[in-house]
Amino acid sequence: MSLPPVKTRERLSEVRYEIRGELARRARELEAQGRKQIKLNIGNPGAFGFRAPEHLQRAIAERIADTDPYTHQQGLPAAREAIASFHKLRGTPNASPERVFVGNGVSELIDLSLRALLNPGDEVLLPSPDYPLWSAATILNDGRPVYYRCQPENGFLPDPDEIEQLVSSRTRAIVLINPNNPTGAAYPRELIERIVAIAARHKLLLMCDEIYDSILYDGAQFTPVAPIAGDLPCLSFGGLSKVHRACGWRVGWAVLSGDPVASGDFHHAMDLLGALRLCANVPGQFAIDAALHGEDTIAPLCAPGGRLYEARRAVIEAVQASKHLQLVAPAGALYAFPAVVGAAAQGFDDHQFALELLETEDVLVVPGSSFNVPYRNHFRVTLLPQPDDLREVFHRIERVLDRHAER
Ligand code: PLP
Repeated sequence: MSLPPVKTRERLSEVRYEIRGELARRARELEAQGRKQIKLNIGNPGAFGFRAPEHLQRAIAERIADTDPYTHQQGLPAAREAIASFHKLRGTPNASPERVFVGNGVSELIDLSLRALLNPGDEVLLPSPDYPLWSAATILNDGRPVYYRCQPENGFLPDPDEIEQLVSSRTRAIVLINPNNPTGAAYPRELIERIVAIAARHKLLLMCDEIYDSILYDGAQFTPVAPIAGDLPCLSFGGLSKVHRACGWRVGWAVLSGDPVASGDFHHAMDLLGALRLCANVPGQFAIDAALHGEDTIAPLCAPGGRLYEARRAVIEAVQASKHLQLVAPAGALYAFPAVVGAAAQGFDDHQFALELLETEDVLVVPGSSFNVPYRNHFRVTLLPQPDDLREVFHRIERVLDRHAER
C-alpha cells in the first residue's frame, strides 16, 4: 500500500530563508568533495574564530550547577533586572523586569511577538530589504508583510512619507531594523522621530530589532527608538548573539515599553505564549548581567585597527577598486550589501551569480533578493572573516564579474 505524502502548511510556500538555503546546501556538498569554501552567508561570529568574552563564559561556568530547573517563562529575575536597568540607563520609559521577555535568541521572540499580535490578514510594515525572518514570521502567523523601501540612493534609509502612505486599516505594527541587516544603515534621530509620529497617529506597535545596537563604525550613532516613543507601546529586541559574539547560547530579549494601559493585553499574550514553551535556555541567561553591565568588548573591534573595522575597510577598498561594484558603506552591523553595476549588471541575476561564484570560486554569498527586494543586482557578505580573506573573496568576485561584463 502506498501512503499519501505528509502535507505541510500551505503558507510555507511563501516563506524563504535563503541564508541557509539551497546555496548553503550546495556549499556543503562541495566541501564533502574536498573543496574548501569561504562561506560568507551567516553572521555567525563563532564560525570565524570569535569567542564570547571570557567574563561571560565565567558567569555561566560559575552558575552551571544552578541551571537545571525551568525558569519563569519571561526569564530569570536577575537577568530581567539586568536588562531593565540597561534599558533605564538608555532612557526607555517604564522598562521594568516585569516587562522584559527573555527568549531563545531574538529569533524566537520575533515569532512569539508576531503571534501575540496578529489576526489573519493583519499587516506589518517591514523594511525592504529586511532580515527575512521578519517576513517569514509575519506570514506564518497569518499576517501580510507590506514593505517600505530603503533605497541605496537614499543610503538605505526609509522615507517616512512612504511608510505613512502604506498604512491601512489592517496595519498593526511598524518594524525597524536598526542598525540594519543586510544594509548596515543606522537611522538618524530625526528619521526615527518621524516614524514614531506615524506610529502615534495610526496607533501602531513599534517593533524595533536592535540586535546590532553597539556594532557601529566611524562615529556612527545608534538611536534607540523606545526613549523617543515615550508612552507609545514599543517592543525593543536585543541579545547576546552579535554584540557579545555568543549566538550559540541562544539568548535574546524583548522589552515592552510605553504606557502599560496602552499595551492592553499584549503583555499577557506574550506571557502566555512564553509559558507554552516553558522557558528560554537557562545557562545563557546567567551571562546577561555580565554582558550588559561588564566590560565593553565590542567597541575595540569596531574601532580602527579592530578586526571588524579592518574587515569593513577591506570590503570598502575592494569595492572602490572594482570595475563592477558600488557600496553604501555600512554604518553598523556585520554585513555589506554591494550592488553590481555597469556592463556586468546587464541581464544580471543575483541567484545565478551566487551559484556561479560558489561553483567556480568556492565563495558563498547571499543573493540580495533573499532580503525581499524587487531588484536583483545586490548580494550580501558578512564582515566577520579576516580582512585578508575578504580581500581574496573580492578578487574572486571581480573575476566572475569580469566574465559577466564580457558576455
Ligand atoms: N534580527 C536580526 C536583524 C538578525 O540579523 C538576526 C540574526 O542574524 C536575528 C534577529 C536573530 O538573532 P538571534 O541569534 O538572537 O536569534
